[in-house]
Amino acid sequence: MTIRPDIRTLTLPQLQEVVAGLRQPAFRAGQIAEWLYRRKVASWAEMTNVPAELRKQLAERYDLHALQQATSKLIPGEAMKFLWRLRDGQLIESVLLKANPALYGQASDRRTLCISTQVGCAYGCKFCASGLAGWKRNLQADEIVEQFLASERWLAGQTDFLPAEAEPTAAETARGISVENQVPKPGRLIHNLVIMGMGEPLANYEALLQALKILNAPWGGDIGARKITISTSGLAPQIRSLANEPFQFRLAISLHGATDEVRTRIMPVNRKYPLRELLAACDYYVVHKGKMITLEYVLIEGINDQLEQVKPLAEITRRLHAKLNLIPYNHVAGLDWKRPSESHQKDFLNALLDRRVPATLRQEKGHDIDAACGQLRLRTEGSITPQAPA
Ligand code: SAH
Ligand code: SF4
Repeated sequence: MTIRPDIRTLTLPQLQEVVAGLRQPAFRAGQIAEWLYRRKVASWAEMTNVPAELRKQLAERYDLHALQQATSKLIPGEAMKFLWRLRDGQLIESVLLKANPALYGQASDRRTLCISTQVGCAYGCKFCASGLAGWKRNLQADEIVEQFLASERWLAGQTDFLPAEAEPTAAETARGISVENQVPKPGRLIHNLVIMGMGEPLANYEALLQALKILNAPWGGDIGARKITISTSGLAPQIRSLANEPFQFRLAISLHGATDEVRTRIMPVNRKYPLRELLAACDYYVVHKGKMITLEYVLIEGINDQLEQVKPLAEITRRLHAKLNLIPYNHVAGLDWKRPSESHQKDFLNALLDRRVPATLRQEKGHDIDAACGQLRLRTEGSITPQAPA
């Protein structure tokens, strides 16, 4: 069976080439992009102003595959976790939150979507549900893009996740949304994207960048690069590559250990890219992009939450001029790790603040809905093999 690429793996210039190859005027590519990204249609039939013959030719060459919702969990008005079924039956997750976990995780009327980039994860961090069942495959660009489109489709039918009226996107404002065709007004339903779902985004570099190009473009998702945060467990060479790309994405580093000893114990990737190498790549990113990095630090009782960790953690944060986001460990079924008591979390935070480190403690949203990455999939797919600390 020949597998056709999905139409949403293409950027607008690539779509224009396809349309030109079919001897159609270039504006047809713009119309198709409008249907795909502004109106988020899930079928060719809905593209009513595109000639039927062109739709037929495109359908013969390209898929337009909408993600199927396998299951979901909702905390009304707060968080929604989707479990999506892909064409080949694999399951991935996205989480919609009324907050931005990458930006201090405060309660907010902004909506943030956390998306996946792989089925499972090969990096096997010892506290993480995504790594437990191993790595299955990379997502294609359209599967990354469609998590955003499908979530906006769902949001459009909701009332408790929406403000009174959806905001026009920047591109819509620029060209005046009222002159658009006679379709329901689209608008900005998701304000921030965080690439913090299942998988290691920088291990699926090409597809990730293609998807983010589409989601960032004014003709596509129209989400500003500054509203997009990529989180990585610390793939040093790819951090450097990202620094050389012409995009101003935010970068979050899953640090979780301020010494090689602690970090290697819970993150096998630290053997390949120890702190010295990781921090040098972060320096490179900061210098080349002129952007502040966020450091993520999951607090796990007795593993990385001792007060003597504060000094090296403060040194790393200051060296990188970074912000530090402390995240209480989210329990994963089958793993023995514990989150520290609230009073200890606060002591750890205060010790950092005393050293003038710009640190915050995440007020967890979605804790009740298995929101830590990989957990819903794990529960749905069944058994796991717990891993002991190294
Ligand atoms: N692979 C990337 C992005 C996905 S993980 C990365 O590691 O950065 C997104 C974030 O969730 C990471 O900071 C990860 O360490 C954190 N995380 C994973 N399991 C968790 C858990 N059980 N509790 C709290 N945070 C967790
Ligand atoms: Fe993979 Fe990130 Fe989970 Fe580590 S924390 S196993 S890199 S998804």
